[in-house]
Amino acid sequence: MEFKQFDLHGKVAVVTGGNGGIGLGIARGLAQAGADVAVAGRNADKTASAVAEIKELGVQSVGLNVDVVDEDQVQRMVQDTLAALGGVDILIANAGTNFRKKPEEYALAEWHKIVDTNLTSVFTCAQAVYPEFKRRGGGKIVTIGSMASIFGFDVAAVYAATKGGVVQLTRSLASAWARDNIQVNCILPGWIDTELTQGARRVLPSLGGVLSGSKDAYAYLPESVRKFPSAEELARMMRDAGFSEVSFERITGGIVCLHVAQAFLPVLT
Ligand code: NDP
Repeated sequence: MEFKQFDLHGKVAVVTGGNGGIGLGIARGLAQAGADVAVAGRNADKTASAVAEIKELGVQSVGLNVDVVDEDQVQRMVQDTLAALGGVDILIANAGTNFRKKPEEYALAEWHKIVDTNLTSVFTCAQAVYPEFKRRGGGKIVTIGSMASIFGFDVAAVYAATKGGVVQLTRSLASAWARDNIQVNCILPGWIDTELTQGARRVLPSLGGVLSGSKDAYAYLPESVRKFPSAEELARMMRDAGFSEVSFERITGGIVCLHVAQAFLPVLT
């Protein structure tokens, strides 16, 4: 898959959680468009393997061991990217987690873990790249929300709250930093086939590889919509949704839903 709408040669992207799932899919897409990519994650083996794969696409890549809940590590992530790749033009604030439970069953520590990973880290990562973006005369930030940003999620109330927060943080940063030529946009994916959603399928067995069942609305959807797309397919959807160098240049504060049909979850009931 090639991203001919983009030419990102000479640009440097940092992708948090770029060592797997959606983050790796996006990192591959950026590399295919010519960007050099810093892959940030906690699991060093996954990161090394992602970096090797990205380098095979003909760009430079560096792996950074970063826990995004640690503000010092986030600051170091940006400094290490500058040192290794010579700049930072794009931040993909993708790292995220989830524990699925009934709202009444969460411990407060679990609330904090999810909020710190999914929401606070987006803020600290954005703060960390801001001085470099300002110095360079602009930059791009893409945050990753969820359909839960809009609809809520009965078995993942904390996750939904963080993803709702990501949307308003995106809009606020877009507005605050528009005059610095920093565009901030948010992607809201539907269900994508990753480790995260494989976990969901263990908790919610009715979410099969193909969502099915004649008693629910999914039965009336085409099979292409009922399937869990891969991260590669999500990247292709981003392209098909009209993401291009030009739109990326001009749009800010955008909240883009992809594969929305998947968000309605009658299968949970
Ligand atoms: P995965 O579980 O497959 O990947 C999560 C990534 O985040 C991993 O690369 C992981 O790296 C990284 N990560 C998690 N916690 C931390 C941390 N504290 N510090 C650094 N890195 C961390 O999930 P997905 O790819 O599915 O999810 C990616 C994003 O997309 C998340 O924000 C998620 O909420 C969102 N999303 C996913 C959907 C889906 O259907 N899959 C739908 C909607 C949104 P490591 O293992 O090295 O820590």
